Order: sequence, then structure tokens, then C-alpha cells
Amino acid sequence: MENKVVLITGAGRGLGRAIAEAFHKAEWHVIATDMDEKLFSDISVKERYTCVKLDITSEKETENGARMADEKFGRIDVLVSNAGIVDYYPISEAGSERLRKIFDVNMFGLANLTKYFLPLLMKSTGRLVVISSESYKVPSPFQPYVVSKQALEKLYNSIKIELSTKGVKTVLIRPGAIDTQILKSTVDFNYTASGSVFQKEFERFGLLIPKYIGKIISPEKVAKVVLKAGVSRKPKRIYHINHNPLITLLTILPGKMKEYVIRNNFNDF
Ligand code: NAD
Repeated sequence: MENKVVLITGAGRGLGRAIAEAFHKAEWHVIATDMDEKLFSDISVKERYTCVKLDITSEKETENGARMADEKFGRIDVLVSNAGIVDYYPISEAGSERLRKIFDVNMFGLANLTKYFLPLLMKSTGRLVVISSESYKVPSPFQPYVVSKQALEKLYNSIKIELSTKGVKTVLIRPGAIDTQILKSTVDFNYTASGSVFQKEFERFGLLIPKYIGKIISPEKVAKVVLKAGVSRKPKRIYHINHNPLITLLTILPGKMKEYVIRNNFNDF
């Protein structure tokens, strides 16, 4: 049988790299893409593995990526929307310009991918796999990352139905903590907001956040689940990986109680 083709965004390192390797091991043609080409410099030339620069915030680069995939392979069987970034700051003071930076990658990136890759996905009756995050479930101060993942999930809900009318399946992945650069950035982040009215609360948030991360698993473990989501004949609608019990507990609390518990963390100065 002809090798199937997967394209992964943000595949230069971390989870994206592990997903690329998992599909490659399963004999797929891999198109590993990332905005930062240098991240591919340690990958030796190998069969069925193509590295491409693709910044998902750029319509031009996304369109070029789709054209290249069409010319070289004529199909995309699985498209993994994985690239993401993290940041921390008081959201109420951020303004649209600062917030847009994280939304551009974590939410609008998916909009660019579907716009340019849909014809190829339709042609191959392919599948879209979207990496969200378990953290989307909880309203959290100072985490534009969480807000962007909540927005991503809303966007995904509409895209899912539209694509299903064209025979394109979609799968959502909601992992907990993974041992990658995003997690390291969270732990090492400098939680100071000088000049902010939330300076004290933000510093307190910085002290608390490592305690709420929960169990950390390897990107390879998550990649195995993503591969399953990509190849399974009847994939689940949503794959949850590495539940954080604290998040699960917060999720089942009624809205007012949830906000009380989260807000109360900032009281004891
Ligand atoms: P990472 O920082 O190691 O990898 C992210 C990759 O995305 C990098 O290679 C980066 O260069 C690339 N990237 C960033 N902006 C891009 C853009 N505009 N266009 C193309 N590529 C871009 O982090 P990771 O943990 O591997 O992140 C992968 C996905 O996993 C993200 O969507 C993240 O939200 C999600 N996730 C991570 C965790 C975690 O704990 N690490 C938990 C849940 C979900």
C-alpha cells in the first residue's frame, strides 16, 4: 500500500517532534514543519521525512506549505495542528495587541491551516488532529495561554461540523503536563509585573503555579496517542491524556464555587 502522508506543525522540538517520529516509525511520509528551521538542524536526511519552514501565523507560508504538499505528495491523510506558545501576564491590562500575539499562534493558526489545507484533506478524505490542552477547562487569571486554548476549542467546534460535511474527520487531543519547552518556560518564567496593579497577585501566582502542574509525562507518550488518533479507523472524538486530578476536581465544582476557590489562592498576603 502507498505510504500515507502526515503534516505536523511545530515539529521542530517537543511534542511535535515526537509526533513526527511516531508517524515515521509507523511507515508514514512525514512533513515536519516549524516556524524555526534551525530546530531541524540535528535531523539527518532520511527517507519519508521532509522538513519545511512554516509559520502558521503567516497565510503566505501556510498557503506555500499546502502547495508544496500537493505538488510533492498530492495528498494529506492527517494534518496535526500542534504548534503553540505560552505566556503569562495580567490579562485585564494586556490590551488587544499583546493578547493577539498568543491568539495568532494558538487559535488563528488553526484557521490558516484549515483555509489552505482543506482542499487536500478533502481530496484524501483525510483527518485533522488538533492539540488543545487540559488546562482549557478552568478559568485562570494571568494565563493568556488558557484563554487562547478556550478560544481554540470554540473555533474547533465549528470547524469540526463544517469539515464533517465534506467527509473530513476531526479529533481533539487534550493533554495534561508534558516535558517540553512550554513546561520549562512556565517553571522558569519571571513572574513580575512591575507597574501593574496586580503585581502582588501575579507574583503569588508564580509561586503557586509549579504546585498545580501535576504529573509530567514524556512527549513520546502523548505522541503514541496522537498516532492512534490519526490512524484508528474509528477515532474517539476527544483523547484525554495525563489527567491532572486538581483540574478534574475544579471542573466539577459549580461556577461560583470554582471562581471562589481559584480567587482564594490570592488572599493570604
Ligand atoms: P514546544 O515549545 O516544545 O514546541 C512548540 C513548537 O511550536 C516549537 O518547535 C516552536 O518553534 C513551534 N512554533 C511556535 N510558534 C509557531 C508558529 N507560529 N508557527 C509554527 N511553529 C511554531 O512546546 P510543546 O509542549 O511541544 O507544544 C506543542 C503543543 O502541545 C502546543 O499546542 C501546546 O499548547 C500543547 N500542550 C503542551 C503541554 C505541555 O505541558 N507542554 C500540555 C498540553 C498541551
